[in-house]
Amino acid sequence: MAKDKIARQALRTRDPNERIKDFKEVALGFSEEEALLEAKRCLACKKKPCIAGCPVDIDIPAFVALIAKKDYRGAIRKIKEKNNLPAICGRVCPQETQCEVCCVLVGKDKPVAIGSLERFLADWEMDNPDASMPKIENKSDIKVAVAGSGPAGLTAAAELAKFGYRVTLFESLSSSGGVLRYGIPEFRLPRKILDMETDYIGSLGVEINYNILIGRTFTIEDLFKDGYKAIFIGTGAGLPYFIGIPGENLNGVYSANEFLTRVNLMHAYEFPKYKTPVRVGQRVAVVGAGNTAIDCVRVAKRLGAKDAMIVYRRSEREAPARLAEVEHAREEGIEFRFLTAPLKIEDNDKGEVSSMTCIKMELGEPDSSGRRRPVPIQGSEYVMPVDTVVIAIGQGPNPLISHTTKGFAVDEKSGELKIDVNYMTSIKGIFAGGDITIGEGTVIAAMGAGKRAAVAMDRYLKEQK
Ligand code: FAD
Ligand code: SF4
Ligand code: SF4
Repeated sequence: MAKDKIARQALRTRDPNERIKDFKEVALGFSEEEALLEAKRCLACKKKPCIAGCPVDIDIPAFVALIAKKDYRGAIRKIKEKNNLPAICGRVCPQETQCEVCCVLVGKDKPVAIGSLERFLADWEMDNPDASMPKIENKSDIKVAVAGSGPAGLTAAAELAKFGYRVTLFESLSSSGGVLRYGIPEFRLPRKILDMETDYIGSLGVEINYNILIGRTFTIEDLFKDGYKAIFIGTGAGLPYFIGIPGENLNGVYSANEFLTRVNLMHAYEFPKYKTPVRVGQRVAVVGAGNTAIDCVRVAKRLGAKDAMIVYRRSEREAPARLAEVEHAREEGIEFRFLTAPLKIEDNDKGEVSSMTCIKMELGEPDSSGRRRPVPIQGSEYVMPVDTVVIAIGQGPNPLISHTTKGFAVDEKSGELKIDVNYMTSIKGIFAGGDITIGEGTVIAAMGAGKRAAVAMDRYLKEQK
């Protein structure tokens, strides 16, 4: 059969009626047969345009060709030359706007399902573990510190360990992964996958210290005094934004961050076995339409909400969430109220949420972001009864480190740390990457930043020597 005649293999998912009853993974992954068929669709292009779409530079045609030859061990090793977290990326990377959009098949046919092939290999490796580890040459006594164990910090730590440095990673929470653990729910990223990949980082020799808040438990100055010669800050953007409407302080209004942390990290979905309650009720409105909002609304549905809805002031076209996640949410019975903005949240005289007043919107001229500005339609206000409201309109960096350390250049408006082309902050020897420098980004963008920062740190440390 000619290569372009093989149809792109669809990723199978669990039945929506079943999956809304639990937190088990929704997407099932490719079978071996599907992976082999999909691998055969790759044209092995000489110019390899797909690689340009991958922030960690995976040699995509090479690993896909190894799959086609059934050399799965060789293929996963090829990926791991560049990517320390393939099982995670294969699941949550926005492939459709990264590597796959650069595939030459786009336009003529559907692109090669690169992300699903990556996931297939990572899952295969879980069943066929590889005892051999990357060779670490030139082991050095130089100590480097990493703050934050999200995808940026984990990647920087892994790369620095591979360069031979003594790496200590400090994480303020009791486990690693950052948003991967406290934000993205189990039904999109199972914890055993996350544990497997974070354990891999530890096995490279990275020492991970939990429950340490840099800026409070130790300051940046303490780390330098303790002999660390360079520091990477990957503390993310965990500070929730609110809309600024009346009623946001009522009981039953959560920030997305708090709602998801209670459920994912503190196991509220297993209450009372775990002592973390979370209020859901019958009607839940989630304000926003990014990945975070879609995760919140799907969690609310699984926690028993009869009506779980997205309220978003722009249209579906502008919704920043991954298309696949929006589709999955729709299959699960999530209601979408586009072109709708909340005006105020009302209570039931006991300080608890009872309703939200909204107004309908229409799209006007493009604003500074290039997206058409939503404009209220006068007289279209209406009251929506709700038990819970989750605000998921975005988040920014926590200012703790920049406030407790003199000399950081910080973007005045966003609070993001400013860095130069080498990922160095305004303070010599301190590097940063991921959401702390760009606001809410993506897992793979954070990993790419961690990787490039590690290369720059290695260069810096060699120059210092
Ligand atoms: P984070 O992942 O935020 O990690 C920062 C870590 O630093 C955390 O563990 C935090 O506890 C720790 N920390 C903070 N302050 C300190 C301190 N002072 N000292 C020590 N440790 C500290 N992106 C995608 O590509 N695909 C998706 O499907 C997707 N879904 C998402 C769903 C949700 C709910 C959210 C919130 C985001 C999602 N994103 C997604 C975005 C993506 O997760 C982030 O862009 C990415 O995690 C940023 O990585 P990071 O390492 O910069 O920060
Ligand atoms: Fe594509 Fe992401 Fe994998 Fe890179 S890490 S090849 S961008 S799915
Ligand atoms: Fe294969 Fe597409 Fe990359 Fe070409 S661009 S090598 S077809 S994945």
